[in-house]
Amino acid sequence: MTAAVVGRFAPSPTGPLHAGSLVAALASWLDARALHGRWLLRIEDVDAPRCLPGMDRVIVQQLAALGLLSDEPPLRQSTRGAAYRAALERLLAAGLAYPCGCTRRDIERTLAAAGRPRTRFEAAVYPGTCRTGLHGRAPRAIRLRTCRQGAGGDIVIDWHDRRLGAQQQNVTRAVGDFVLKRADGLWAYQLAVVVDDAAQGVTHVVRGEDLADNTPRQILLQRALALPTPFYLHTPLVLGRDGHKLSKQNGAAPLDLAEPVRALQAAAAVLGLPPIAAPTPAAWLQQAVPAWAGIMRGP
Ligand SMILES: [Zn+2]
Repeated sequence: MTAAVVGRFAPSPTGPLHAGSLVAALASWLDARALHGRWLLRIEDVDAPRCLPGMDRVIVQQLAALGLLSDEPPLRQSTRGAAYRAALERLLAAGLAYPCGCTRRDIERTLAAAGRPRTRFEAAVYPGTCRTGLHGRAPRAIRLRTCRQGAGGDIVIDWHDRRLGAQQQNVTRAVGDFVLKRADGLWAYQLAVVVDDAAQGVTHVVRGEDLADNTPRQILLQRALALPTPFYLHTPLVLGRDGHKLSKQNGAAPLDLAEPVRALQAAAAVLGLPPIAAPTPAAWLQQAVPAWAGIMRGP
């Protein structure tokens, strides 16, 4: 008997799937199937203002046209507020999270005064102003504490990626105390993902390499909440004409599903799978599972 393997694909309904998002969807499906596991779909609509109405249905239809069917009805993050709240309460009660009263300008001013002004492309590392209390200000956001209480030591997360190998991040220095609940009242992505992966019993996370940088924060949150850490695999990105990751922002076209096998084949090539000749998506997928198992075996 082996433990039940559960994989997942977790798109944000901010636009239809494109060639880049299909790579992650296909890899997560193949991986779950190759390990005789289940594959679940999660609609990451926690950032409601960015989501497009009805787009979740479009994505489910796109996946269905490619033969990628969820083993359970999709979980929608917009319905998960109570679970996120319960997790946040636990972190607050344990002293691992704290309210922050800083505005973005407060943070920039504090960093500039400390000689650490943020560069244009770099997210600001929170200077820790409210770790010791709100100093009379109203709470705005809730943050996770990323330094060991009392000792003041950095938290360094070592983790393993099944494709990229050994990884390490000093979360304290690289990210700082990150937001769990935003000032606008929305749940932060990191908290929602960690709570939902655990609730769905996800054992194998397979997703795009652009999300690899989030993994140490998620592992830190898993440990803080005493939740299991899944295995991670981050897939290669598809680059747009501008050399950046293909995205809706740089004009990625929605998947052309007139020829679904061709779309699958293109995604498979990015993953390093050999060409597979098959008349239908179902037949193609059936052959792709052992091919995936073959390339994932070994050191
Ligand atoms: Zn603050």
